[in-house]
Amino acid sequence: MGKIIDGKAISNALQERLKEQVAYFSMTVGRKPKLAVIMVGDDPASQVYVRNKIRACETVGITSEAYKLAESTESSYLETLIAKLNEDRDTDGILVQLPLPAHLNAKKIIPLIDPKKDVDGFSAANIGALLLDDKSGLYSCTPLGIMQLILSTGINLTGKHAVVVGRSNEVGKPIALMLLQHNATVTICHSKTEDLAAVTRTADVLVVAVGKKHLITADMVKEGAVVIDVGINRDDEGKLCGDVDFAGVEPKASYITPVPGGVGPMTIAMLMTNTLKAAKRNVQ
Ligand code: NDP
Repeated sequence: MGKIIDGKAISNALQERLKEQVAYFSMTVGRKPKLAVIMVGDDPASQVYVRNKIRACETVGITSEAYKLAESTESSYLETLIAKLNEDRDTDGILVQLPLPAHLNAKKIIPLIDPKKDVDGFSAANIGALLLDDKSGLYSCTPLGIMQLILSTGINLTGKHAVVVGRSNEVGKPIALMLLQHNATVTICHSKTEDLAAVTRTADVLVVAVGKKHLITADMVKEGAVVIDVGINRDDEGKLCGDVDFAGVEPKASYITPVPGGVGPMTIAMLMTNTLKAAKRNVQ
């Protein structure tokens, strides 16, 4: 039987530790760390994500400032708001919830955030910092959380074959770089990969970030592999499910993350971690 990695419990423990660190920051600096969350429009999934992020801020003692802007918000308004928050000394982190409405270009908006306040780690400067192993950078939250989950198993990644399925800038590419930093031999797969199963079957650690229900079935997984399921999908009954056929794969895996309750809660914990990191640098 595979062992289930409890992302919720690991996230809660991390937030408990963060609470103390945030309290220490607030006491020594004389104010709490502050995160500005900008949301444009009323995408239902984004509303849930933003609500969870604000709730996590309350839990750990970070001040959150939510800017809920109308769907029709013009790019120039958003640009001015980001410029103002970049200048505001008491704002430590800035997050623009994606996706943006179609008339707004995330590729143009995200780079406007001061990299020192870019707590999502999406800017070129922060992705570059990760590539160069510059620890002062703010790294993307989901891959940071995935690494914590993998390391929680006690696995020594040195020399292990890690296979990442998905090559997005937010998840696939950064997690591949982090695994490389831990001396894994890394293969990145994507929609053009030939014979995906032949590659995934060689994985000691398999990270799947695609967004396709049950893409990974038991026959694609090596006995004893650590399996991390990043995907968020809905099954036929409307329930949340991942990219991995959990029921089939779990008996083969040495460790596996569930959906929900695996990677998701960790992403938020790492956002809080990044906000505190940004705040510490902001007051230096
Ligand atoms: P993207 O859509 O940006 O990327 C998906 C990747 O999957 C692409 O690289 C694509 O390849 C690849 N892909 C598509 N089909 C296949 C296939 N049949 N075989 C192999 N690879 C394939 O998604 P994200 O990285 O942003 O997110 C992935 C999933 O993770 C989504 O379900 C998302 O909701 C979830 N997610 C969860 C988070 C959490 O906190 N739990 C946070 C972020 C994302 P190509 O590049 O060739 O098109």
